[in-house]
Amino acid sequence: MTDSDIARNVAHVKAEIARAAAEAGRDPAEIRLVAATKMNDADRVREAIRAGVDICGENRVQEMLEKNALGAYEGAPLHFIGHLQKNKVRQVVGLCALIHSVDSLSLLQEISRVAEKRGLVQDVLLEVNVGAEESKSGISPEEVPDLLSEAANLPAVRVRGLMAIPPICEKPEENRPFFLQMQKLFIDNSEKKYDNVRMDFLSMGMTGDYTEAVRCGANLVRVGSGIFGPRHYT
Ligand SMILES: *Cc1c(COP(=O)(O)O)cnc(C)c1O
Repeated sequence: MTDSDIARNVAHVKAEIARAAAEAGRDPAEIRLVAATKMNDADRVREAIRAGVDICGENRVQEMLEKNALGAYEGAPLHFIGHLQKNKVRQVVGLCALIHSVDSLSLLQEISRVAEKRGLVQDVLLEVNVGAEESKSGISPEEVPDLLSEAANLPAVRVRGLMAIPPICEKPEENRPFFLQMQKLFIDNSEKKYDNVRMDFLSMGMTGDYTEAVRCGANLVRVGSGIFGPRHYT
């Protein structure tokens, strides 16, 4: 895919987000487009930033560090959206403005430990396995209040919201029940006030279903192939 394709795709995705937001009576300005940049090199990432994506989201720590060393993300905040192992926390804390994928108490504790040593507070989202899929990480919806209470005891993390990766779907509407469940979970858990928690972000929706996610309240959508074209796994 050429640069102009990337620019055209970003414009298309943004227009679709705006249309879905308008249909839902939402202000499109409150929805941010995260480019899921995995397997795309620094030049293509830069092109997406030039084309107007709001944020870059990476999945793998090593790949992110390599691209970061090339200045790939200049001009856009960097988020971590992939599964994070505890032994890689050191490399992500501070570099990424937001970690979307906290899926255990022990990971939350490790992030706080590392962030505290560096004298910073790391913003994170809790990843919810909303489809209860065995193959996917994430906490169950029932565990969300427990982790939010635990976060209150961790000085160097701040939980900013929830993230979900529902099952792969053929049509955007198929995931509507999961998105609605996440929206409810987000609202319910926003009502109770916890220390170190500020429920600002609901991260959901990918290439196949981001318009539906926007209709159901997402304000961070993570789009990869819809911007960069199909990924070629080798
Ligand atoms: C790859 C990825 C995406 C984007 O997937 P597409 O279907 O290509 O849009 C979103 N979120 C996460 C966590 C990903 O790993």
